[in-house]
Amino acid sequence: MTAPRIEIDLAAIEHNTRVLVDRLAARDVRVTGVTKATLGSPAVAAAMVRGGVAALGDSRVENLARLDLSGPRTLIRSPMISQAAQVVRTATTSLNTEPAVIAALDDAATQANVRHDVILMVELGDLREGIAVDDVATAARVVLTSRSLRLRGLGANLACQNGVVPDDTNMGVLHALVDRTELHHGVTLDVVSSGNSASLDWALTTAHVGRTTELRLGEAILLGTEPLGRTPIAGLGTDAFTLVGEVIEVTHKPTRPWGRQAQAAFGAPPEATARGTRRQAIVALGRQDVDLDGLVPPGGIRVLGMSSDHLVLDVGDHRVAVGDELRFRLGYGALVRAMTSPFVTRVATSGPGVAGTPDAWRDRTSA
Ligand SMILES: *Cc1c(COP(=O)(O)O)cnc(C)c1O
Repeated sequence: MTAPRIEIDLAAIEHNTRVLVDRLAARDVRVTGVTKATLGSPAVAAAMVRGGVAALGDSRVENLARLDLSGPRTLIRSPMISQAAQVVRTATTSLNTEPAVIAALDDAATQANVRHDVILMVELGDLREGIAVDDVATAARVVLTSRSLRLRGLGANLACQNGVVPDDTNMGVLHALVDRTELHHGVTLDVVSSGNSASLDWALTTAHVGRTTELRLGEAILLGTEPLGRTPIAGLGTDAFTLVGEVIEVTHKPTRPWGRQAQAAFGAPPEATARGTRRQAIVALGRQDVDLDGLVPPGGIRVLGMSSDHLVLDVGDHRVAVGDELRFRLGYGALVRAMTSPFVTRVATSGPGVAGTPDAWRDRTSA
């Protein structure tokens, strides 16, 4: 098999989805499955659908376009005006914060003779996207007076920019705003999209899930971890993705470099350790393939550094020879980079009769 490759256990993704969908259903909360960390993989999306998600979401319209275009699909990043026409053709719904974008979507939807659903995102303190609470009434008016847009509800995103934790206080602000918007405009809002995987713990433990109707879940489904502390979620698989790389050099080398030292390829060189030698291996994996952040080597092996194309490891007593493959676990940063790298082949290792099948969309994206 080719290396590097990322092996995707679709059964694990389906299982994780079903567990989370069931747990949240007990609280009347639906799940939108977020595929952005997988470059909008149709195979991953299909596993999420089998697991029971109510809708799919992605941050890129190009990714949404790869998915099965029959179910509800939400663009979860505010659209670029330059992509408005593509957005109304590809997404059924988008998360929005800017009146100018909403106007462009209305023009595009009117021209395409389609209806497009809008969820307005509210700023609750994490300071990434969101309309100030006091400006939501005006933004709602823009949608309600449009020709081709429908105001479906309000949403919020926390924990991405400043790590602000979803709790009863900030969620309470969102829920009160939903009530106020309904009263003010005489409408019913049937979607309250209360956040990403970081909102899971709140939604499953609060006494008042309030007006929340859905969460948008990526990481929890894909990696089985919650993003606030990056801890595993009980009952979920944490090994749906494995990155496999091939060893291209194994030697004993001194632990200390020699010669005058300056910057290394990616900044300061690693601290020199005690004198002596170590068994060092190079894997044909680099920053073009994966991010060091979240790359977990097999037990007993330590990462010494990574440049564009070389991953340097202290392999200790690990039996490893040139030509061998090594398997790595992935955190969120490493997963995103590996799934979006054109050098990494994606292979489904489970699922409905697709053992060892390359995920088909790769051919469509690498043209
Ligand atoms: C990425 C993202 C999500 C999904 O986040 P996870 O932490 O992967 O669950 C949800 N909503 C928005 C707006 C996002 O950008």
